[in-house]
Amino acid sequence: MSKVYFASARVSKWQYSDSMPGKLERLLNAINLGQFFESKEWVAVKTHFGSEGAHRIVRPVFLRKVVDALKAFGAKPFVTDTVRIKGLDYLEVANYNGINHLSVAAPVILADGLYGHDNLMVPAGEILGEIAVATVIHDVPAMVVCSHIKGHIQAGYAGAIKNLAMGAVSGAHRHCGWKCGRGAMHAIGEGMLEWDAEKCTYCHQCKEICPLDCIEFGPDGLIFNSDKCWRCGRCARVCQQDALVLPSNDDKFMKSLSEAAKAVLSTFKPRKVIYVNFLTEIQPECDCMPAAEVPVIQDLGIMVSEDIVSIEQASIDMLLKAAPLPASLASDMEIKDGEDVLTSLHNKPYMIQINEAVRLGLGSRKYEIIKLD
Ligand code: SF4
Ligand code: SF4
Repeated sequence: MSKVYFASARVSKWQYSDSMPGKLERLLNAINLGQFFESKEWVAVKTHFGSEGAHRIVRPVFLRKVVDALKAFGAKPFVTDTVRIKGLDYLEVANYNGINHLSVAAPVILADGLYGHDNLMVPAGEILGEIAVATVIHDVPAMVVCSHIKGHIQAGYAGAIKNLAMGAVSGAHRHCGWKCGRGAMHAIGEGMLEWDAEKCTYCHQCKEICPLDCIEFGPDGLIFNSDKCWRCGRCARVCQQDALVLPSNDDKFMKSLSEAAKAVLSTFKPRKVIYVNFLTEIQPECDCMPAAEVPVIQDLGIMVSEDIVSIEQASIDMLLKAAPLPASLASDMEIKDGEDVLTSLHNKPYMIQINEAVRLGLGSRKYEIIKLD
């Protein structure tokens, strides 16, 4: 049984130690970072930089707390994420969202280079075969995975497994393209986008959101550059008419997330990765979308564990007990108390991620919650 340290988002005493940053400091003390990391060791603090407009990410103040805790015993942390849009633009997005060297007190770097091509193929599993893991994450000896817990249109639940699977893997490989990167999870088979001219309102939102300028509109409608596209699915996600679809398969997608997470973790020695799940600003969609919706579940708190399966299971169990928030998408959809909010929102079998992670030996679903006072 693994330990999951938890601090509630509620404040009972008006003092720093009862604030969320203060509680994160106490959680990191409780797990004793010194048993995982060494003095002078480089440690990646893996987060998601968000998107221009998606501000509900893991806040810089929390990243700073993780960095400070690592520096306290001489480790050398840096904050990192893989390229989602063009690399220089993505660093600017991090800066817009408040993540920079000054705010987090550590270098902020792209894990797979300015072009998203700095990666190494790592054996993954039955579905993916191999996957392109970002070079920096592949090479660094230790990591703290900071994950913003939220819903996701394709994954249903997005936590630490997805943060590693999608977030530590590149969009494409220099030679074998999207089929070796994130697109291998997003798409099945040849994974070609399907466009329905009848449904399209020509709003051009898909064209505007594409990070690689793969979509154009000509006299005969949508023109899609299949060679350039890395199957990130952003265009299909923003289409409100269901006019653009990236064929996917829920079972394979969920299992491939766990496979990719395992591939990433295989590049670390045992007990060199810990997880911090932020059950805060729990919005319906991914942080890579161009806007952040209001939360569908009230802030619950922060969890820290060395077991990726335990922390994911504990996070899901807590979400399952949480009530849907009024004046949110959950109330628009008339989700009631006692219902699984994330399943009601997206109708995705997200537990497959966890079950597959157990099957792959990534951790245990049995956990003990150690709650801070
Ligand atoms: S987002 Fe959808 S509706 Fe709008 S142009 Fe693209 S395919 Fe058409
Ligand atoms: S999936 Fe859509 S948004 Fe992503 S690269 Fe391809 S065309 Fe662009």
